[in-house]
Amino acid sequence: METNPTRMCELLVGLPEVNVLGVDDQRGQPIVVKVESTLDEQRWCGACGTRGSIKDRDEVVLVDLPCFGRPTRLVWRKQRWRCREPLCPATSWTVVDRRIAPPRAALTDRAARWATKQVGRLGRAVSDAAEELGCDWHTVNDAVVAYGEALLEADCDRVGAVDALGLDETLFFRKGERHRKQWATSIVDVGGAGHPPKLIDVIKGRTAVKVSDWIDEQPDVWRQAIQWGVLDMSGPYRKVFSDSLRHVTQVADPFHVHKHANSKVDECRRRVQNETLGHRGRKADPLYRSRRLLTKAHDRLDEAGDAKLMGLLEAGDPNGDVRMTWHAKETVRSLYGIDDPADAEAFIDELIDDMSDPEMPPEVRSLGGTLRRWRDHIVAWHRSKVSNGPTEGMNNLIKRIKRVGFGLRRFRNYRVRVLLYAGKPNWDLLAHVTPTTPTGAVSMS
Ligand SMILES: [Zn+2]
Repeated sequence: METNPTRMCELLVGLPEVNVLGVDDQRGQPIVVKVESTLDEQRWCGACGTRGSIKDRDEVVLVDLPCFGRPTRLVWRKQRWRCREPLCPATSWTVVDRRIAPPRAALTDRAARWATKQVGRLGRAVSDAAEELGCDWHTVNDAVVAYGEALLEADCDRVGAVDALGLDETLFFRKGERHRKQWATSIVDVGGAGHPPKLIDVIKGRTAVKVSDWIDEQPDVWRQAIQWGVLDMSGPYRKVFSDSLRHVTQVADPFHVHKHANSKVDECRRRVQNETLGHRGRKADPLYRSRRLLTKAHDRLDEAGDAKLMGLLEAGDPNGDVRMTWHAKETVRSLYGIDDPADAEAFIDELIDDMSDPEMPPEVRSLGGTLRRWRDHIVAWHRSKVSNGPTEGMNNLIKRIKRVGFGLRRFRNYRVRVLLYAGKPNWDLLAHVTPTTPTGAVSMS
């Protein structure tokens, strides 16, 4: 039994008024604190107002905040009251004190808020917090999801006016033994004048319909304020903006333009490799050895890298197809060095023309075709200067969550976790929110 008054005080800091019935402190076991609530107003019958009498007592074991660096259990002895009025329909009721824990919770309220902050704000792994509390993964995860959802729900000002809206796909998990890919769409305020990017929401899937539905549900004022729509070069997101945000100017994300151009260089390298040597790239093949140098930005190559690349192409690219595709990729890159929008338009039109020349390698002509289809989107960047760079950064955050979030199998978990971490909620509100869903089953561990 703990009797030291200083240690007793530490155990009880932050708990509402309770009577301490005892403390059990055994080596190798969680510290057990036994309390009884002092709420007397709940003695009165809710149905008829008669003063109740004690029927019996119910003990609930809750995971509490670690104390003295050790896992702690709060045993809450709840009074069960019985109405003394014989004609009253009410039979019995149990004391409810949400300051200790919501009904059916497995964690105390203060432990649940602590866990939500550790996992949601600091990005700690659920298993890590669970270990510190001395309980299982689900107990912590349920609490984080319940309190986290309540926080996101309460934070009405989290999503403000958005000038540039970005859509980006993320792979969120592979399901079952067949490793089926599951996609999610991140909806992002890509930021701009003075404000940093922020994850607005994530929705299941990457089809136009799903994303359009989400946008259509938003307030009209909010939608009308959006000026730019940033997207990768994919049909579904283009359709979303065309269907649901018609007034918005669509901008092709420069990162994805570069990525597409690079994929054409790879494609050409593999084709020429196969045509000249009759097999897929091997370690000693010049083209295979050039693969990283080829996709790197030319201005990032030092003199030695440049000389090496030219030598490898000399050896492995007899018709100059790879070199031509590489040159096309570099020319696309240089488009982004042009400052004046009108100059950029003239430049891309000429580029598309050059690339469609029948003498060009098929990969260059294909790249030219893509530039033609996305021409307006690409040059819109020169007026907007917005990019999904922030969205990509956001996806890196999401990837971090996925790395620590072993077991993010359910989309609901995934959504709450990434929004808590990358959605920048107002954490001051956490102290005042009330979760509406039960936070887990009671378990003694
Ligand atoms: Zn009654």
